Amino acid sequence: MAPAIAPPTAKTQSPSTSKVIAPAIVTLRGVSKTYPNNTKALMGINLEIPRGSFLFVTGPSGSGKSTLLKLLYGEERATEGRVVVDGCDLQQLRGDRLSHLRRRIGVVFQDYKLIPRRTVSENVAFALWAQGLSRKEVHRRLHPALRMVGLHHKSNCFPEQLSGGEQQRVSIARAIVGTPPILLADEPTGNLDPDNSLQVMKILKKLNEVGITVVVTTHDDGLIRRMNQPVVQLFNGYLLQPKK
Ligand code: ADP
Repeated sequence: MAPAIAPPTAKTQSPSTSKVIAPAIVTLRGVSKTYPNNTKALMGINLEIPRGSFLFVTGPSGSGKSTLLKLLYGEERATEGRVVVDGCDLQQLRGDRLSHLRRRIGVVFQDYKLIPRRTVSENVAFALWAQGLSRKEVHRRLHPALRMVGLHHKSNCFPEQLSGGEQQRVSIARAIVGTPPILLADEPTGNLDPDNSLQVMKILKKLNEVGITVVVTTHDDGLIRRMNQPVVQLFNGYLLQPKK
């Protein structure tokens, strides 16, 4: 699918959806990001993502998809504009308050980022231990998360004993174990074959159906068509007009 090039829009976009529009969990207003080497990764982005929605962010490599997600989970800071996530203005947040917000955002990466010498359970529980939760509480949260991704039976395996699709499902369990209101997935199927990609997408959709807002970057047009969910498109750092 060739990108439909359209002039950047000044209006705030809400991805088209048949669902009733709930208040936005993410609001970007006039957001630009220029990296220190002067690369302009995002320019004048206006976007609202309704709470409880599922959204694909697509566009060619280098169009700014990862940068957009990094602004949402506080890995990078916008050079201009406002980024508000779950009521928090990320331009204003520093230190503990930023760490607190980041704990409430689930993130999934293309390369899974699992700890090799830890079991599936340990990988998923790690963030909960780091927050100082009791053994009982960790246990209470761990098992539903593993069941949600269909990996309860592999809880004692190490990452190298799992397929790529299974490793990605562990990383999804790790992202949701803290019950975040929003899950950001950056090219989650980039290393997976079509069957595993679809399985991962179906899990993300299932999580959306239980109320988690899900934002997924991908340049897999076939997968986008199969999932039939709202899409916004980036091109050279600009958000394009939604296709009618
Ligand atoms: P995508 O995810 O769509 O492939 P990115 O957000 O990774 O796009 O990158 C957008 C642009 O920003 C690209 O030109 C990329 O080279 C550049 N870029 C990304 N990260 C950095 C960085 N840390 N420093 C400098 N330039 C970067």
